[in-house]
Amino acid sequence: MRHDVLTAAAVVVAFLAGGCSGKSETEIFWLCDKAAGQSLSLFPDADSTLVESLGLVDEVPSSMSAFLIQKDGKWLLFDTGLGLPDGGIRGGLDSLGLSPADIDYLFITHFHGDHIGGMLDASGAPVYTEAQVYASQAEYDAWMAMPAGANAQAVRTMEAYRDCLHLFAFGDTLPYGVEAIDAVGHTPGHTAFQVDDILIWGDVIHGLALQLDHREICAAYDMDSQTSIATRKRMVQYARDHRLLVAGMHLPSGFLDFRTPAE
Ligand SMILES: [Zn+2]
Repeated sequence: MRHDVLTAAAVVVAFLAGGCSGKSETEIFWLCDKAAGQSLSLFPDADSTLVESLGLVDEVPSSMSAFLIQKDGKWLLFDTGLGLPDGGIRGGLDSLGLSPADIDYLFITHFHGDHIGGMLDASGAPVYTEAQVYASQAEYDAWMAMPAGANAQAVRTMEAYRDCLHLFAFGDTLPYGVEAIDAVGHTPGHTAFQVDDILIWGDVIHGLALQLDHREICAAYDMDSQTSIATRKRMVQYARDHRLLVAGMHLPSGFLDFRTPAE
């Protein structure tokens, strides 16, 4: 089931997942931080014949997004967007009658600025003051070991949340049945999260129109291209095999629905 909540500030799209599979129903909301295309220059592996055949000019439709799940009366937020004053995350929360202090759990796919940027306010204080924060040990260790300057935002942000930061290993089951799945490649500890039949896969795909059928194409943001390609192939297959609803932080309309098998 899908319903759209339209507000002046944001478009929130909600899906109820799991209802037909015998699992408990889980409601997921798409919080679109920014509807923005990704420049074709970010996909140097995409040859011009393919780009032309897809009718793409200059950009691939995309977004910057976060997702919110309500589970057993708790609010679970996945990533926080860029944190810019005109971003859509706060408007999305507002339209649901929520404030950042209502978020109980915050799950972070990786430490790029369009995912952790909303965690601190302009003064450097935590925005999600009541949240327990979950990130992968692999992501944390890799960013803390980067040269100063490359990791300043990640260091500052994780330090601000140190008293409520929980570092997990891939395969761990986190609160409310959230499963942490290895999606490494885009970053060293990039994580996908599964909740019932919803797969929140972070940055597995940046340009859907290019990469869903050509998973060998990387975005320039992918830190390890060979591992990114293998992960992209594995995650798409996994979502198809298990008939999952995919929520992606750079999907142009938030979701990819594999719950109905292809004809
Ligand atoms: Zn991203």
